[in-house]
Amino acid sequence: MGRTIACANQKGGVGKTTTVVNLATSLATAGRRVLVLDLDPQGNAASGFGVDRSAQTKTLYDVILGDRMVSDVVVPSGIERCDLAPGSVSLAGAEVELAASPQRERRLARALAGATAQYDFVLFDCPPSLGLLTVNALTAADSVLIPTQCEYYALEGLSQLIATLNLVRDNLNPSLEIEGVVLTMYDARTNLSADVASEVRSHFGSAVFQTVIPRSVRLSEAPSFGLPIARYRPDSRGAIAYDELAAEVLARGASRSASPSAGAGSTATTAQMSSAVRPEAAEPVGAHA
Ligand code: ATP
Ligand code: MG
Repeated sequence: MGRTIACANQKGGVGKTTTVVNLATSLATAGRRVLVLDLDPQGNAASGFGVDRSAQTKTLYDVILGDRMVSDVVVPSGIERCDLAPGSVSLAGAEVELAASPQRERRLARALAGATAQYDFVLFDCPPSLGLLTVNALTAADSVLIPTQCEYYALEGLSQLIATLNLVRDNLNPSLEIEGVVLTMYDARTNLSADVASEVRSHFGSAVFQTVIPRSVRLSEAPSFGLPIARYRPDSRGAIAYDELAAEVLARGASRSASPSAGAGSTATTAQMSSAVRPEAAEPVGAHA
């Protein structure tokens, strides 16, 4: 069974989609079979791969609100070994439409069955909210990957996210793990980036990936060409960083399966993350800077 990872952060514009598209590409390039689910009504993951959503007859809308399975809506992403399940603008109404559905938090988990066996990794690109689409993703996922922008209110947003993760664990998905926190848009020229990075590391310890994604114009340009960074500018710092992140994700997976008490590392991680919900963690980083 493939590992199912929800890329989530209710804050907008922190690099969720950029991380999903480029991590998926790096994992596929490393020989893994990857499926990306574009759960955001904005559809940025599809455009990041240059896939035209308007040409799709069936989308994740028909999965979450209808009776389609994820495997019914999968299309090629343009990257070898990487497939995409596109979303639709109609997903924007899903939160309201789902409200009256039975098992409304488990619609995605139900429809994913079978698809995970065909992939090594299934990555969900979540919308910037903690609504029902994100809750469906967290309920269906093995773990959550949290992109965190190196900016002022980073920790404040993380505290709220972790409170939600704990609720999902208590009520819907007790085995949900933390894949890790990835620092994005790191600008080595600013003290703020360095301050935020060290603050996030001091709260979340080994849950934070060593790899830091630099702020890079090339990364922000790539989607306008419908290309992951590895195809747009393979030698750029952003492309190298996402390859390094993929290597870390693979190494964490290898150490999980090598460990006799699988999940021990992630349990420690979970405890760290929960302790970070302390009120002082909600202080904006750099308030004193
Ligand atoms: P949303 O919450 O709206 O879904 P998101 O969390 O998915 O946003 P992205 O769309 O990945 O965030 O990134 C937000 C913007 O920042 C985009 O224009 C993207 O191209 C740009 N961006 C992402 N990562 C970087 C980076 N490392 N360097 C420079 N620009 C970046
Ligand atoms: Mg996005």
